[in-house]
Amino acid sequence: MRTTPEAPIDMRAEFPELRPFARIAVRLHPRPGAPTAAQSSMGGPLLWPADEPWPFCDGPVGGDHGDGPAEPEAPLVPVLQLFRDDVPELPFPGGADVLQVLWCPFDHEPDGAPRPQLRWRRRAEIADVLTAPRPDAESDPRLVPGPCVLHPERVTEYPSDDLPGPVWLAIEQKCARLAAETGWHYETDLAVASGTKAGGYPGWTQSPEWPVCACGAGMRHLATIASWEFSRGDEKRWIPVEDRAAMDGWGFDAAGDHPWRAVQNPAGLMLGDVGGIYLFVCVDCPDRPFDYRFDCA
Ligand SMILES: [Zn+2]
Ligand SMILES: [Zn+2]
Repeated sequence: MRTTPEAPIDMRAEFPELRPFARIAVRLHPRPGAPTAAQSSMGGPLLWPADEPWPFCDGPVGGDHGDGPAEPEAPLVPVLQLFRDDVPELPFPGGADVLQVLWCPFDHEPDGAPRPQLRWRRRAEIADVLTAPRPDAESDPRLVPGPCVLHPERVTEYPSDDLPGPVWLAIEQKCARLAAETGWHYETDLAVASGTKAGGYPGWTQSPEWPVCACGAGMRHLATIASWEFSRGDEKRWIPVEDRAAMDGWGFDAAGDHPWRAVQNPAGLMLGDVGGIYLFVCVDCPDRPFDYRFDCA
C-alpha cells in the first residue's frame, strides 16, 4: 500500500470554484518486483495469447531504428498491464478486463520518443501465454521499463496547466495566501499528481495538447507514464508516507544503489529529459481509438 499525504486544507470547502474540475487519478506507485502475467504491472510479463504473434516495430517509415532499411524490426516491450479488478475506472470496451500498453523502445518521430500501442483483452479468453522476446540489443535500456509491481491508490486531482484562465484568476489570490500561510503551493502540491497513473489529468511538463478523435470528440486521458515518480519540489505531497524513511539523504549525487532510486525512478525510465508519455482514448467510439503525446523538460 502507498498513501499520498492529505492536503493541509479541505480543498472542496476552500475552493468551490474547482469542484467541477475535480478528477480521480489512480496513482499506480510502481516499485521494483517480480510480477507475473496474471498481475497488474509496469514492465512486467503480459497476459499475451500464445496464438497471437508478438508485435514488432519498423518505425513509421520503415528502417527507423538506426541502420537503414536492412535493420530488423524491433520487438515492442511491455510497459503497463492493468486488470479491471485493480483499476475498474478505466474505460474498458465491452467485455474487456485487461489493458496492455507496449511501446517500441527507440526514439521515433514526431517527438523523438517511444511509440506506444494498446491492447484491450478479455482475461477468460487467454489460456496459453506467449513469452515476450528480449528487447532489441540496440535499444536504449532507459526506454525499457524494468519489472515493477503496482500499488494503486486513488487521489483527487485538480487541473494545473489545464485549468481555464478565468478560474485561475478567481483563485489566484487565495492560492497566494494559502502558500504564505502553509507553504503549500496549488500547482506543485495540490493540483496534479506526479508519477505514473491512470486517469486524472495528464502530468504535462509543457503546455497541454489534447488529441481529438476522428469522430470529433475530445479524447480522455487514459494514463501517464512518467520517468520519475516525483521530483524536487514535490516532497510535501507526492512522496508516499510509506516511502519517506527510504528517502533519507536523497539527492542526485547519492550512491547508485541508494534506496531512494527504487522509489523515485522505480522502472529505470528516462523519457527524453525526465519526460512523460500521455495516453488518450476516445470513449465515444466503441473500438477506443487511441493517441498519445510526449513532452519533457
Ligand atoms: Zn520502432
Ligand atoms: Zn471517437
